Amino acid sequence: MIEIRRQRTQHPEAKPKTEGLGFGRFLTDHVFIADHTAESGWTNARIVPKATENIDVAAGSVQYGLSLFEGLKAHRTSAGELRLFRPDAHARRMVEGSKRICMPAVDPELFLAAVKALVREEADWYPEVTGGALYVRPTLLATESFLGVRPSTKHMFNVMLSPVAHYYAKGENPLRLWAEKELVRAAPGGTGAIKTGGNYASSLLAAQRAQARGFDQVLWLDSHERRWLEEVGTMNLWVRIGDTAITPPLDGTILGGITRNSLLTMLREQGFKAEERRISLDEIAEADKRGDLLEIFGSGTAAVVSPVGELTWDGGSVKPKGGDLAKRLRKELEDLFAGRIEDKRGWMVPVP
Ligand SMILES: *Cc1c(COP(=O)(O)O)cnc(C)c1O
Repeated sequence: MIEIRRQRTQHPEAKPKTEGLGFGRFLTDHVFIADHTAESGWTNARIVPKATENIDVAAGSVQYGLSLFEGLKAHRTSAGELRLFRPDAHARRMVEGSKRICMPAVDPELFLAAVKALVREEADWYPEVTGGALYVRPTLLATESFLGVRPSTKHMFNVMLSPVAHYYAKGENPLRLWAEKELVRAAPGGTGAIKTGGNYASSLLAAQRAQARGFDQVLWLDSHERRWLEEVGTMNLWVRIGDTAITPPLDGTILGGITRNSLLTMLREQGFKAEERRISLDEIAEADKRGDLLEIFGSGTAAVVSPVGELTWDGGSVKPKGGDLAKRLRKELEDLFAGRIEDKRGWMVPVP
C-alpha cells in the first residue's frame, strides 16, 4: 500500500467551459509527485497544488531530454463510474521506456496508485461533453542539478490531468497527410519506440512544413529508403486494402500504441484479417490504381481512431475509396469507454 500525502490548493481555478476545451489546454488544480534517489527508491508520494514544484534548469530533463511520458484517459460511464483504459499496459510501457534512457523504473504499482488517486481527487474536473475525457499525463524526469552527460541520480515522477474534448479541432473531417521524404523521426537502434521528449522536438519542423503545404499531419517514412510507412504524429497507422487491415510492425522505430494493440485484438476476435507488416508507398499507389485502397486511418489515445482522406508525397497522392472499418472500430471503443457494451477483456479499470 502506497501512502499519499495530500495538500489541497487554497486557490482552486474555475473549471473551463466545455466549448473551446480543446486538447491539453487546461490542467486540473493538483498534481501527483514522487521523488526517486538510488539510495531511497521512490519516496514522498504526494498530491499537491500544481504550481508548487520547481525544476532546476541544469537538470538532465531540461538539458539533455532525460524525460519520458505516458498518455492515457479516464472515462465516465453513463452510470457515473470513472474508469481508466488499460492503465496497466501504459505502466508497463513506461517501465520499458525508462530502460532505454537509463532512468529508474516507475513501479507499475506506484503508477496505478498515483493515477487512480489523482483522478479520484480531481473527479469534478471531468468534462461533460461528447468525446470528452480526463487525459492523464504521467511524466518521469531527471531532476539532479548537474551539467555532465550521464544518467541522473535524482528523478521525479509526476502525474497531471487535463480535461479534454476530442483531439482534432476539425472533429470528424478526414485528415490530409503529407508523407515526409526529407526529415526523419526515428532510425533503427534509436529511441523512436519510447515516449521520450526528444522524439517530439524533432518532429515539429516537419509538422510545420506539412501544415504550410495545407496538410494536417506528417506521415513518417523509414529513415533508410524513405518508402516504408511508419506512423503519424502521435498515432499509429493503418491501411485497409481489400478485406485486410495492415499496420507497420513494431521494429523499434515506431511507438507501440496501446490503441494499436487493442485494435489488433478486436479485429482478430472479429475474424477480420489484420497484418503487422511493412507496407510501402508503392504498394499503396498500386492498391489505389486497382481500386483496392479502401481506408487509411490512425489510432492513438488522444484521437482514438481517425480516418485519413488523402495521403500525398513527393511523387504521388492517393485518396482511399472509403469504408466503414475505422468508424466501426472507433464506435466499439467509444461504446466500451462509455460503458454501453460489456468489457469482456478487462480493459476498463475502475477508479474506486
Ligand atoms: C503515444 C503515441 C502513439 C499512440 O499510442 P497509444 O498508446 O495508442 O496512445 C503512437 N505514436 C506515437 C509517436 C506516440 O507518441
